[in-house]
This record gives sequence, structure tokens and C-alpha cells, in this order.
Amino acid sequence: MFIFKTIAELKNHLNSIHTNNKTVGFVPTMGALHQGHAFLVKQAKQNSDTVVSSIFVNPTQFNDPKDLEKYPRTLQKDCTLLESVGCDIVFVPEVNEIYSEKELELKNQNIEDDSWSEGKNIDFGILDKVMEGAHRPGHFNGVAQIVSKLFKIVEPNKAFFGQKDFQQLAIIKSMVQQMDFKIEIISCSTIREKDGLAMSSRNIRLTKEERRIAPLIYKTLSSVKEMAKNNSPSELIKFAKTQLEKENQMQLEYFDIVDTLTLQPLTSFNNKQNAVACVALKLGNVRLIDNILL
Ligand code: AMP
Repeated sequence: MFIFKTIAELKNHLNSIHTNNKTVGFVPTMGALHQGHAFLVKQAKQNSDTVVSSIFVNPTQFNDPKDLEKYPRTLQKDCTLLESVGCDIVFVPEVNEIYSEKELELKNQNIEDDSWSEGKNIDFGILDKVMEGAHRPGHFNGVAQIVSKLFKIVEPNKAFFGQKDFQQLAIIKSMVQQMDFKIEIISCSTIREKDGLAMSSRNIRLTKEERRIAPLIYKTLSSVKEMAKNNSPSELIKFAKTQLEKENQMQLEYFDIVDTLTLQPLTSFNNKQNAVACVALKLGNVRLIDNILL
């Protein structure tokens, strides 16, 4: 497995792959990898000739500086895992390899200026006004900024993203369309621990007691799915909130039931729309998200 730190080295290596018409599958990550990421790489391996993964904790998508600071970094272990599942190339750039001083300065000053970075100021319409977008101002602009930069560097044929970040997938698909990238976006199912907790890099920050409580998130989502046959979205939301708020270490940010395409809240179920229940909460100091298709 090749590990590159600079854009020049990576591009140089990818040149011959692109010119030989080999397909490139790309799995962008922020590291602290687990079996969810491994699954994405395996999917990429099955669907492309060469698999590139990136490990980059992207500063521009964090709205809370403490969250960025505490984000786990386990590079050596990550590379071992990536190699074990057949990843061919890992890109691990430093921040200044990706962002200019000006870009970082503007991010720190929170200046919205559409002239300085492609992908940063795409209009996602209603997609980023709800859920994560509403609770993490600027988050999806930062995501679009880094993913568009990485897409331009790697030039993959296919890119693989987890359904765990349901709204992120919708945002990426919209970005690909708006920026006219010729990249197929492939969504991969959420990988869970045996007790149902969605795997997340943040799980290692949970205390023993918090980890014990955490499976309640998926348990509640599963009950909501079961109950969706006979209950309205508002009844389901009320039920879920009551369940989750029973644990006083859990601080619910939102529990929404939305249309899978528009991400707009549903007031009733009908046969023409697919629904997804999405939740975000803080368990102690750790922010967790999950979702289930209804
Ligand atoms: P992250 O490193 O958390 O930014 O995630 C990198 C990619 O892995 C994203 O496409 C995530 O949606 C995906 N991912 C994270 N957790 C899981 C999981 N438990 N199952 C499947 N994919 C995941």
C-alpha cells in the first residue's frame, strides 16, 4: 500500500493509473477508522481497479473547535486496517497541503465569501437547512469544500460514502450534480456493533457508563420503524423523544422523520415518499448521530 502526504506525489502516482484506464474508487475519511470504514473500502475494492482512501481531519467542517481538537487520531492503526482490507493508496495530507493561509483565515473569521474556494459556497437549497445543517452552521459547506478538493485531486470514477451520514450523502450528491463531477456516488449501509450502536470514530470517547447506555439510540430507531405502520410521524417523534430523554445523560438535539430525497419533515406517510428517521444527541461530551429507513 502506498502512503502519500503531498498532492504532487499522489497525482504523480495516479497519473499512470488514469492513463491506463483503470477505474479508481475513493473512500474519504477523517481517520480513527473502524469496521464501518473497512466496509466502504471493501465495497470500493469490489467495484474498482484501484482503491484510494484519504485520512484528513478537515478543520473547515467543525463548528466547535473543541470537537476538532478532541477528534481521535490513530494514523498507524488506520493504515494497518486499510492495508488489511485491500486499500491500494492512502492520502494523508497536512492541513497546509490542502488549504491556503487565506482559506484558513477566512474560516476562522467565519467570513462567507464565495470567491475564494470552490465547493465552499454551493447553494444546497433546502437540503442543508434541516437537521445537521441547522444544528452545525457551516458544517456542510466545509464538507463540500473538502470533498470537492479531494475529488479534484484524486479524480475517482466512484466514491463511497456511508448511509450513517444520511444528510451528508444528499449534500454530496447535490454537489456532484452542481459542480458537474463525473463521479458515481455509492451509498453503503451502516455498520453496527453487536448491540446496535452505529460504529463511529467518536465512540471511543464514550465512558463505560455512556457506552452502556448508547445502544438505546438504535433500539429507539428500531421501535420507531416497527411502529411506523400504525403511527403518524408526530406520534413516532413523541415516542422517540420520551424514550431517549429517559436517560438524563442523553441530550437530544433533534429527532426528525423526513423525506429521503428532500430531507423535509413529513407530517404523514404516503406510498409515494420514502421516509427516514434521523437522530442527533449528545451523550456526555460526545455527539452521536444515527438514522433508520422506515
Ligand atoms: P468519517 O471518517 O466519520 O468522516 O466517515 C468517513 C466515511 O465513513 C463517511 O462516508 C461515513 O458515512 C462512513 N461511515 C462512518 N461510520 C460508518 C458506519 N458505521 N458504517 C458505514 N459507514 C460509515
